[in-house]
Amino acid sequence: MFDKILIANRGEIALRVIRACREMGIQSVAVHSTADADAMHVRMADESVCIGPPSGTHSYLSIPAIISACEITGAQAIHPGYGFLSENANFVQIVEDHGLTFIGPTAEHIRVMGDKITAKDTMKDLGVPCVPGSDGGVPDLETAKKIGEDIGYPVIIKATAGGGGRGMKVAKTAADMEQAFMTARAEGKAAFGNDEVYIEKYLTTPRHIEIQVFGDGKGKAVHLGERDCSLQRRHQKVFEEAPGPCITPEERARIGKTCAEAVAKINYIGAGTIEFLYEKGEFYFIEMNTRLQVEHPVTESIFGVDLVREQIRVAEGLPMSFSQDDLEINGHSIEVRINAEKLPNFSPCPGRITQYHAPGGLGVRMDSALYDGYSIPPYYDSLIGKLIVHGRDRPEALARLSRALGELIVDGVDTTVPLFHALLEEKDIHTGEYNIHWLEHWLETNLGNA
Ligand code: ADP
Repeated sequence: MFDKILIANRGEIALRVIRACREMGIQSVAVHSTADADAMHVRMADESVCIGPPSGTHSYLSIPAIISACEITGAQAIHPGYGFLSENANFVQIVEDHGLTFIGPTAEHIRVMGDKITAKDTMKDLGVPCVPGSDGGVPDLETAKKIGEDIGYPVIIKATAGGGGRGMKVAKTAADMEQAFMTARAEGKAAFGNDEVYIEKYLTTPRHIEIQVFGDGKGKAVHLGERDCSLQRRHQKVFEEAPGPCITPEERARIGKTCAEAVAKINYIGAGTIEFLYEKGEFYFIEMNTRLQVEHPVTESIFGVDLVREQIRVAEGLPMSFSQDDLEINGHSIEVRINAEKLPNFSPCPGRITQYHAPGGLGVRMDSALYDGYSIPPYYDSLIGKLIVHGRDRPEALARLSRALGELIVDGVDTTVPLFHALLEEKDIHTGEYNIHWLEHWLETNLGNA
């Protein structure tokens, strides 16, 4: 059993892990940059270590500083949260080489899923349905044009090393191919140092549906249903829910089983998310995230499980505390991401919080590292909180979201809260009829956002 865990992250996710540690009787160690000396995760952890200057590269991404912090404090394991080093196979290798435990999958799993072509090939072999497209990398424009003709336009050209929506270009017709192919390659090279690209059929009106999986590393795995994260701006999720409003119990059981069996076969350990585009009753794999996701609380809410606790358990070599048969959906849950951003352009809005009041009451969870007088530093992600609600059904969850947003006070900086108030006035949000383009269109029409 671990006595002490170091959390290689900041903000709400660091708090999330500290809370799980405390409930399990495990000591927690926070690491922080000089800009985060007064941050909530530093105050809440049992111990803290300053690991560098404000820039993420020299603090939260500094592998030597984080390993040293473990050695100084005697922490036996590292929880990476999401972002930063959470999907860095090299980091996992170094952690293990130092006799420490990485709370997450193996370096090999991260490596395989981190490259989009190997990820897709692996999933295809494991029986997971994929978007039709090129067989692996596309070497030149001529081949790209040939593939475009074969699968039919529109197509999307993706950098194999891409992420965060970068390195992707759509070619609507053959005439767009040259430009799209060259741009995707150049972006891949510039942002990720790898100009390999592949091609997929471009789905025009899909929803984003992702399956939460969990493995014990010994060949056992379960699925915890889906999350619908179709409301996105520039491929960034803003509103997530579980279960998905358009997924039937039969569809869930079928795709869930496929995903759980796939990860069981590769002895996957810990939490993972298999992302799909969903159109006309079909699922198409796009990528797997080998970590805890920002939106994991909606899954926790409907299944009544603590995913971080499970991550820690399996990292200790213990079995999962539930089996597939124990997992039953209870009600509906929605999360909204509260960012310190100014509408209509979503420009980052760091600054001092003059007043903060978190909503409460039945079915309301606020995951945030804010407090009165806290200064949001300008160096990191603009996510400052996640408001998660749970209701007996979707209408109750939506009503509760509206009520909780009304109670929330974040003064001193601009936030995305007004966006959610406005979205809750929309009929499509209540009927659940939207796809991955809905929000971009809405922003254009209502806020003139380009
Ligand atoms: P990233 O790793 O950059 O997030 P993904 O492969 O997960 O890239 O794709 C991000 C988003 O791009 C998806 O959520 C979807 O909105 C869009 N997308 C990706 N592939 C396709 C496709 N084949 N057809 C239509 N949209 C796509």
